[in-house]
Amino acid sequence: MRKQIIAGNWKMNGTIASGSILIEAFNSFLSDKELNVDVVVCPPFTALERAVCLTRDKHIEVGAQNMDYHDAGAYTGEVSPLMLNEVGVTYVILGHSERREYYGEMDSMVNEKIKSAFHHNIQPIVCVGESLAQWEANETISFIHSQLDGALKDIPAEQASELIIAYEPIWAIGTGRTATADQAEEVCKSIRQYINELYNGNVADKVRIQYGGSVKADNALKILSEPNIDGALVGGASLLVDDFTSIIMAAQELSVTES
Ligand code: PEP
Repeated sequence: MRKQIIAGNWKMNGTIASGSILIEAFNSFLSDKELNVDVVVCPPFTALERAVCLTRDKHIEVGAQNMDYHDAGAYTGEVSPLMLNEVGVTYVILGHSERREYYGEMDSMVNEKIKSAFHHNIQPIVCVGESLAQWEANETISFIHSQLDGALKDIPAEQASELIIAYEPIWAIGTGRTATADQAEEVCKSIRQYINELYNGNVADKVRIQYGGSVKADNALKILSEPNIDGALVGGASLLVDDFTSIIMAAQELSVTES
């Protein structure tokens, strides 16, 4: 059985102080819970170090929202995997649609970043997802397969099986419009089938696939109940204590039912 993973992408929001308050609230909510769910928060770079300190020995891991794939050098404005290692970050979101849209990130770059993340023992969460026009033109599956072809080029099976892939339809991110559980499941299932084609059944069984796009307290349980959805990448709702903890508890409820 795959373990559910709930990750919060804070994007470019908050301060070190407000992020600390949020983490303390998550810590206190989770302190008396027996959780069988991975929980990750991804604050902005400036708040990572404090986040790592506050989550030490707690049930929360810390991720970055991006990283460069070089170890060091003349790459102004970038943050390297070694720097993330230094502050104790264990996850990184790669290829988020906002990175692709506003900063020209391409599948080939995402591919380099995945290789670098694995090399430095940072767990990548790799985002894929189609635009509204592609969704309406019925091009979702072929587009996502092409994103996976690019992102996973030369990634060996042992690493691929450790991947977390986040399916995030762009039209559902921050819009309040979410894919129905059936729609999300159909795409996540096709991602798993494609991983099977690219690798093998063992890798496809192990890879964890999240859904992301306006996941909230009130729709999480339904979405997470789908057989090929192993968690959620949460934007807006991850900044709200009640919403994010409810989403975590929805995943926990399922892990108890399934075991
Ligand atoms: C995201 O940014 O990855 C995301 C899913 O955002 P939201 O939950 O706000 O749609």
